[in-house]
Amino acid sequence: MLCFYNTAARRKEPFVPLNPPRVTLYTCGPTVYNRAHLGNFRTFLFEDVLRRYLCYRGYEVTHVMNITDVDDKTIRDSKKAGLELGEFTRGYTELFFEDLDFLGIRRADHYPLATEHIPEMLELMARLEQGGHTYVAEGSVYFAIATFPEYGRLSGVALEGNHAGARYEADEYEKDDVRDFVLWKARKEDEPFWDSPYGPGRPGWHLECSAMARKYLGDTIDLHCGGIDLVFPHHENELAQSEAANGKPFVRCWMHGAFLNLKKEKMSKSLGNIVSLAELRERGHSGQVVRALLLSAHYRSTLYFDLDELTQAAATVARIEEALRRLEDSPVSGEAPGVISAEVASARERFVTAMDDDLNVPEALGSAFGFIRTLNAALQSCPLSSADREAAKTLFSEYDQVLGLFHREQLTLEAEVEHLIAERLEARKQRDFKRADAIRASLADRGIELIDTPQGTRWKKA
Ligand code: AMP
Ligand code: ZN
Repeated sequence: MLCFYNTAARRKEPFVPLNPPRVTLYTCGPTVYNRAHLGNFRTFLFEDVLRRYLCYRGYEVTHVMNITDVDDKTIRDSKKAGLELGEFTRGYTELFFEDLDFLGIRRADHYPLATEHIPEMLELMARLEQGGHTYVAEGSVYFAIATFPEYGRLSGVALEGNHAGARYEADEYEKDDVRDFVLWKARKEDEPFWDSPYGPGRPGWHLECSAMARKYLGDTIDLHCGGIDLVFPHHENELAQSEAANGKPFVRCWMHGAFLNLKKEKMSKSLGNIVSLAELRERGHSGQVVRALLLSAHYRSTLYFDLDELTQAAATVARIEEALRRLEDSPVSGEAPGVISAEVASARERFVTAMDDDLNVPEALGSAFGFIRTLNAALQSCPLSSADREAAKTLFSEYDQVLGLFHREQLTLEAEVEHLIAERLEARKQRDFKRADAIRASLADRGIELIDTPQGTRWKKA
């Protein structure tokens, strides 16, 4: 049975969409004031795997991801860059899509821009106003959290004391600072603005997600995701806005991904300790390797990143590619299903059981490697039947459909050799010298000589 950890319930629950087989999925997207960093992509990749797995399980997913192209940071940095806001954010939005493609992340059905949904946001505000949830102060409009008794239900933050009049205007918050949040910010000199019944201004950050989720997915959505830092205040505020305005439950299951940390600190654009995909690409790492790295921990466990982890991920990818190649090149004899067909069935069961359990990707990958070991042993002893070979290929393509790691990348020779060198290094660390020698021999067959030096392994074409 498919179960997900629901942040609101604080436990794993069976996943039951409102109108199966349809699933509505809303994921908070990037703020395009900078190139998204590896931490952001860890979250986007977890959401990609979630969506891929739902499709694998037969659901028809509609996926929406907003692009925040107006907020404090985009305005501040577009000014610094001397660019008009739209021009500034367009550049980073394009880079964002480039990075998604590099990682093999499937495109959402809609990527609405905040600046193109101002009317929907104003309409939502009008309904909040009618319900008595808003007030105006110095030309800005605030949501009065005291009018929504369930405020704090999602994140568990406590509403203490009398908060009347305590307001928060910024898009970035102090942790756990519970105050009325801004829906509409009065125009400031030198800032982009839109007209509204409350006067010229611009929307606060939280409003866009409530307005877009409703426009594209309806009042109640099945799944709403983001990184763990979005639980409070962003998702708490979205929940308050949507339920106060629509009078219906907003989200059936909230899912949040843990952080990617660098040197024991949260990776963040504001802290400056970012690693971009572009940097990794320049260092010669393929999208598959970065993908394998980001999928190496369960999505709810913190992943500690350093560049050495990439060696491990390269070895993972090399092992997969090697298995795919061996299967492709193996001779066949006979047609009838044999022992491998039975192994495929049980490997598939283990894979589904792991993924059904709140997307346990490390466990699912472990089962895939178990299958690869069995397959390698079988290939060594005798040729497969055509039925067995087809069954194994189908299983690999199912793994690929969900994890996006089980296809042969069109690698340059350089990248491929680097992968194999990494795998050989890993094999030696594990004292698997037979495997290490086999890699050297297979490269030698292809005219590539490895030279071990104190600085690492070099290679040349013989
Ligand atoms: P932002 O562009 O800052 O709005 O973030 C986009 C997404 O990335 C959100 O879902 C964040 O929760 C997530 N995120 C930000 N920093 C990290 C990190 N270090 N690790 C994982 N996810 C992150
Ligand atoms: Zn959001």
